[in-house]
Amino acid sequence: MNEIFVCLDLIDSTGGTQSLVLRDGTELVVYIRINTNKSKYKQMMGRANRNRRRKNLPTKQPIQDLLVIEQLESWMESVGWTSSCYLKPTIFPVTQRGLKAVNNIMPNTSLVKIPKKLLITPLVALNSKINFIFLKNHSYTVHSILATFILYEKHLGNTSTWKNYLDTLPNSYTTPIFCAKIEKKIMPFIVRQKLSILSQKIITDYEIILKSIRESKTDGYDLCPHCKLSLIEIFSFEAYKWSYYTVNTRAIYMKNNNFNDDFKISVNENLALAPFLDMLNHSFDALVEIKPVDDISNEFYQIFTLTTIHENSQVFINYGSHCTFKLYMEYGFFIPNNPLDEIFINYSSVNNLKNISPLTNNYILWNKFHESIGFTSSGLNYRAKVAFFILSTPLRIIQMTKKIYCNSLNRLDALSYNVLSLKLLNTKRLELINELKIMKSRTNKTNSFKININVQQEYVSILDKCFYSIIHN
Ligand SMILES: [Zn+2]
Repeated sequence: MNEIFVCLDLIDSTGGTQSLVLRDGTELVVYIRINTNKSKYKQMMGRANRNRRRKNLPTKQPIQDLLVIEQLESWMESVGWTSSCYLKPTIFPVTQRGLKAVNNIMPNTSLVKIPKKLLITPLVALNSKINFIFLKNHSYTVHSILATFILYEKHLGNTSTWKNYLDTLPNSYTTPIFCAKIEKKIMPFIVRQKLSILSQKIITDYEIILKSIRESKTDGYDLCPHCKLSLIEIFSFEAYKWSYYTVNTRAIYMKNNNFNDDFKISVNENLALAPFLDMLNHSFDALVEIKPVDDISNEFYQIFTLTTIHENSQVFINYGSHCTFKLYMEYGFFIPNNPLDEIFINYSSVNNLKNISPLTNNYILWNKFHESIGFTSSGLNYRAKVAFFILSTPLRIIQMTKKIYCNSLNRLDALSYNVLSLKLLNTKRLELINELKIMKSRTNKTNSFKININVQQEYVSILDKCFYSIIHN
């Protein structure tokens, strides 16, 4: 008899154990420790109640937030922008600032229409007072050109042309790069691994900018044209990190940047910044169509809704099909109950639980069934089903291949491979819980690290839901 012990924060009406009788007559007993009440279970399981709340932390005072937005709107109107009659800046309980629909908004209505002259494109930066930085014999990414420009304009304070836009930007971000050094050491491995790649990218970009500023000294350009402070001092790594993530978290995609040959561009990510646009928060089910500026016929960056938005509800756009991991790594927030989330396991962890014959192992590796094995809130992902089936079935290779490629895995097969599924799920869950305990034990957590903890809790809850899906299906 196989036994698994699982602690859950959910209720199950059948009591503390689940017994599964398998096809070969063996019995799997699952012990469940139950902690909470039915309403929480319903809330977690109900698709209808899917919680679309964004999990981040407010960074500014709401009243101040609305004031700077009013000032932004007045400034934009003074340079030819027409505000939408449908949207009103509002402070929402969870997302903080956002835009509310004043009336019902019908499909194919333009939500925002930003004139090209209000966009901060790389060309704006390359024609600015600090363009000498980019005239050195180096190649620059569009991301770093925009970040350098934003940093400098922020330094200009009230004298910046873009002051009203810059005032609406957060003072800090919550992507993992802003975690304290000690927090970075105890983050889950996948976050650390990705963070190391992202950090290297920003450091490389920053070093090129710094080198260019140092080289400007020989041309007599190393001081700020407006306050004569040393540019090296103004372009500190901390300041650059802020401006880099300003671009990272709110840049829009805009094609067709034609660069002058004087500037060498290493990576043209087709990015630009659009004032007012970051008032619109992300939701994974918002349906919108984006019409970027195309220089030929369209001088506006526009976003259209494809569905009806009801009066007094918050208006969302969709940044793309991003899972929790991507949202946290790139934007510093996540949305609970994201249907795109999968908790992956290493195929090597299966080896620790089960002896795999060389024949089976080769079959799995040859067909790449060992890749992307994962758990979702509604059960195993397809690859996990196939891999666990291969590892559990007594069928010969020809028969199992037929079953896999005819997509005819059935309930009996599931009963058989779910012994392994639940063991692996339990192992993964314990691993996450152990990491979570260490993370929670830190004192004086940064906001970014608090979100990392919430992400980890979200992952544990996905595994809990996966567990229920497996034993109830
Ligand atoms: Zn200055």
